[in-house]
Amino acid sequence: MSTFSFHANKAVTTGEGGSASTNDAELAATMRLLVNHGMTPEEPYVHRILGRKFRMTNLVAAVGVGQVQRWDDLVAARLRVSERYRELLPDACSGPACAPWARRSCWLHTIRVPRRTAVVDRLRGAGIDARPIWPALDRQPVLAHVSGNFPVAHAIAGAAMWLPTYGQLRDDKIQYIAEHVTAAVTDVGPGEALSHA
Ligand SMILES: *Cc1c(COP(=O)(O)O)cnc(C)c1O
Repeated sequence: MSTFSFHANKAVTTGEGGSASTNDAELAATMRLLVNHGMTPEEPYVHRILGRKFRMTNLVAAVGVGQVQRWDDLVAARLRVSERYRELLPDACSGPACAPWARRSCWLHTIRVPRRTAVVDRLRGAGIDARPIWPALDRQPVLAHVSGNFPVAHAIAGAAMWLPTYGQLRDDKIQYIAEHVTAAVTDVGPGEALSHA
């Protein structure tokens, strides 16, 4: 199965919700049951399993169809922003991880900096909506039962941050943001070495 989020902040969005695809007929039938109160399409109001109501409305789906028609442009617009950041901040950006069979897209442009919290604070002080990335998954209370050592995840979770990324972000603003990132990194100093670098 593949899953897609169409949350409001994604490159392709329906405001909220998402979709799942599969080439397995049995899984598809189960998903159709789950999204619609556990009712089969063949037997209305007969509940085969305990389902939920995850149906997308036609109104929302119409937005999604419009988005998919603009898919190439929407993805290209975000990639332009990401590539520009990459040019301006080569030291903070890692190469795009992309399988040979895939085409890259970009959700939010992510950089890695020493003393991330201080850098984020400085950028926010300059009116830039920079955000630290999420904590490593094993630090989430819901996954507290997971044991193990995850040094790479922890190093990245402690050093990575998102820069503003949306298709209409103008080049002069990207330049402004990149200049402030460079200045902030210089100002706050080197911090601890990144062990995974
Ligand atoms: C959007 C997103 C999610 C959440 O998707 P939902 O549709 O809100 O459930 C989770 N992880 C990543 C990396 C995402 O980009």
